[in-house]
Amino acid sequence: MTEILFKEILFNKLDELKKEAIASFAGVRSEEELYALKVRYLGKKGLLTDILKDLGNVGAEVRPVIGARANELKGELEETYERQSRELKNRKIQAELEAENVDVTLPGTPVSWGRAHPINRVLSEMKAIFREMGFTICEGPEIETDFYNFEALNIPKDHPARDMQDTFYLGGPIGGNVGAYCNTPLLLRTHTSPVQIRVMQKQKPPIQMVSPGVVYRRDADVTHSPMFHQIEGLMVDRHITMAHLKGVLEVFLRKIFDPDIKLKFRPSFFPFTEPSAEVDIECMFCEREGGICRVCKGSGWLEIMGCGMVDPAVFKFVNIDPKIYTGFAFGIGVERVAMLKYGINDIRLFYENDLRFLEQF
Ligand SMILES: [Zn+2]
Repeated sequence: MTEILFKEILFNKLDELKKEAIASFAGVRSEEELYALKVRYLGKKGLLTDILKDLGNVGAEVRPVIGARANELKGELEETYERQSRELKNRKIQAELEAENVDVTLPGTPVSWGRAHPINRVLSEMKAIFREMGFTICEGPEIETDFYNFEALNIPKDHPARDMQDTFYLGGPIGGNVGAYCNTPLLLRTHTSPVQIRVMQKQKPPIQMVSPGVVYRRDADVTHSPMFHQIEGLMVDRHITMAHLKGVLEVFLRKIFDPDIKLKFRPSFFPFTEPSAEVDIECMFCEREGGICRVCKGSGWLEIMGCGMVDPAVFKFVNIDPKIYTGFAFGIGVERVAMLKYGINDIRLFYENDLRFLEQF
């Protein structure tokens, strides 16, 4: 066989291959098919390689010509492959976009709005009323020392009032950076009154503040929870009297409950105030209940808060001269107010996170 003839045969084979390959690539429908074609024509054991296997038998003059032709074909096929591959990808994206066609005129998915917990709602309302009357909002730690929670509030170690305010102790004894007075275990505060001590230590009268926050006691039944919220107030200056206390509480109770609500002061005892009083408000359930009202047990009054004039003994702990200054203090349970305001009879409902309950507010 002459070299020329051999060259002719190989050229023909390459032309045949080109026609076949181009036609196959053009008819391809999926990326898998396309890849199979790539392997068939351009792969290591593909048809093109197959043809060139015989190149070794060709003379040195003709070999480069055939090699060049084969490379040219290889380039063309690779280009065809790339083009088809891009085309298939575009078609796929197009199909996906059409399938996912969004109708922008459809109504949106409703977003459900959260709302404030009833305790937080009542607490914010209470804070707003006191702020309007010129009280500063002060906060303090929930973990306290015996000094701030009891001693400085005139509740010494053997005082019976400690029984009513039994709390949770956090182990100890500890020392160091929690305060010079601390040689007893840390505890969870039983009231927010320690904040009043902390403020009086730092600030000289006039003082007009409320301290809202979480407090803890070893209590649990339908009206008592081991954790609850309080807001306590303090006003200290020259010539502060019980009349100021009554005025402030009247404004507060009328704003939070009812502008016409009646209230009365009843003598009471707290270690940190002298004299002390409980404040009762008119029962708002009597009419609804009819007969003997179960909420107030027929008395017509509901206990709402405790208050009194700051005991001079407390002032001594914070170096305020009781001969110059007087003051009043009061404390209100936020849950108690929320229960009366919304007619809730079980304190535990506040902490169960039951949406059927919470969505009513
Ligand atoms: Zn009643």
